[in-house]
Order: sequence, then C-alpha cells, then structure tokens
Amino acid sequence: MDDDVFLVRFWGVRGSISVSGPEFCRYGGNTTCIEMRCGKHTLLFDAGSGLRPAGGALRASGVTDFDLLFTHCHYDHIIGLPFFAPIYDWSVKVTLWSGHLAGRMTTRQMVDEFMRPPWFPVKLDICKARLDCRDFVSGDVLRPREGVVVRTGSLIHPGGCIGYRVEWGGRVVAVITDTEHEPDKLDQAVLGLIEDADLVIYDCTYTEEEMERRRGNGHSTWQQGVKLCEAAGARGLALFHHDPTRTDEELDEIEKLAKDRFAGAFAARDGQTLKFPVSLHKKR
Ligand SMILES: [Zn+2]
Ligand SMILES: [Zn+2]
Repeated sequence: MDDDVFLVRFWGVRGSISVSGPEFCRYGGNTTCIEMRCGKHTLLFDAGSGLRPAGGALRASGVTDFDLLFTHCHYDHIIGLPFFAPIYDWSVKVTLWSGHLAGRMTTRQMVDEFMRPPWFPVKLDICKARLDCRDFVSGDVLRPREGVVVRTGSLIHPGGCIGYRVEWGGRVVAVITDTEHEPDKLDQAVLGLIEDADLVIYDCTYTEEEMERRRGNGHSTWQQGVKLCEAAGARGLALFHHDPTRTDEELDEIEKLAKDRFAGAFAARDGQTLKFPVSLHKKR
C-alpha cells in the first residue's frame, strides 16, 4: 500500500443507468462509484453498479474497515449496494454517511427502505457486516479517519444532493455530481468545494448544446466544469456521470474539446486510477 499517495479509482463513471455493448467498452458502463485511498484509509463515494467490482477489489486487498459516502440516493447511485460483497462478510465494518435527506430520513432508514421486499428479495438484516450509519447536515465538516477532512455542501439537484471536498496530505479531490448549473452563473457553493483542487470530478452528463432541452433534470456540462475549474484554480477535471447514450467515440470527441479548453480535463473511465503524491507534513 502506498502510504504517501492519494489514490483515486473510478469504478463507475456512467450516469442514470448502466449500459453495456461494444460502443461503451472503453469508457465503461457502470454507474457512479469512486474509490479514494488516503494512505491506509479507504473511502468510497456512491454505490452505483460500479460498487460491485469495487467490493471484489477491496476483498482481494484485505480492506475490511472503510467509509461509504452517498451523494444522494437516486437509483444510479445506490443500485450496487445489494451486490456489494463486503456487506455480507462478518469481518467487515462499513461506515455509511449521507446528508442529502437531513431532517427527512436517516442514512439507516434510506438503506433499509431500499433493501427490502418487494424491491429486493431480502432485508438489510441479512447483512453480516457491521454497518455504522452516520447522518450529517450539508455544510458539516466530516473527519471520517485520522487526518482525512471531508467538507460538504449542497448541489442543485431534484431531491437534494451533496458535493464533497476531500483533503488529505496537502491534496484536494472534489466530487461534484449530480448538479445543474444556472445559465451564465457560477455556483458559489461548488466554487468553495473545488477551490485549488488537484482534481474535480464533475457532472458532465450533457453538452451546452443539449442543455436547454434538458433543464430541470439536475445535470451539468463539461463546458460549465471548465469554467468552474478555471475560476477556482483547480488543476484536474474529470468529466463524469456520462450520459447513458454517449458512445466511446462521442466521449473521445468531448474529451478532445474539453482538453483544448482546459489542459487538465479528461473523460473518466471505469477502472481508471490516478495517483497524487502527498506531503504528509503539509496541512491544508
Ligand atoms: Zn445520477
Ligand atoms: Zn441524481
């Protein structure tokens, strides 16, 4: 394990619904799931269908105590949870976090509601792992593990959604999905979460050309991601939450356009890993 590296691995980069087929092979078809390793600490963001292969990898590398943070609970962000092998393992402890339903439903209730008949054959109590459910309110600063700081903020999305800023070892990675920007406006909450970030993982479901027809769906564009990153002094931009109809060729083209505008931009792919060397003495 690299103790001096902040590792980001994309297990699912697709939005709305998982896809398969030859036209989606290179970027992948699993819905949202991101792994971050801050030295020996493992954090997962969202439980889309990408959570299933993430579970296999965690098992293979002997990780038995980790955090899973939800941005929100639309299907594409939770559908992988019942198929996440570690929750059926006695030796595992998972700390689950959510804040988008604050005052309406606890994290425990959210997971209970989702994993039960008639939606799923068995109830949550079949899980053998220790599930420690935590609730927070948007704006809270979380400290899930020693030295790891997670700042939270509200995104613009039907039903609510949380954006995260993860700070560890002098590095910053932000998860900003799902969110809809207002025309000709930069969201101050997002700017705060992504300021000076090494990597911004941003909801790029649509292009600006498509956006007018898609208003109200709660998503954004790569063009808006570029503007936000430029304004916030962020260095990397991962185009994320790809529209389910977007083929590999179309994503190649979008990636090229985005890179021309912002050198640190790329279209995220399932299985892709990024490593940021850290300075463990530097605090931010
Ligand atoms: Zn989504
Ligand atoms: Zn959503």
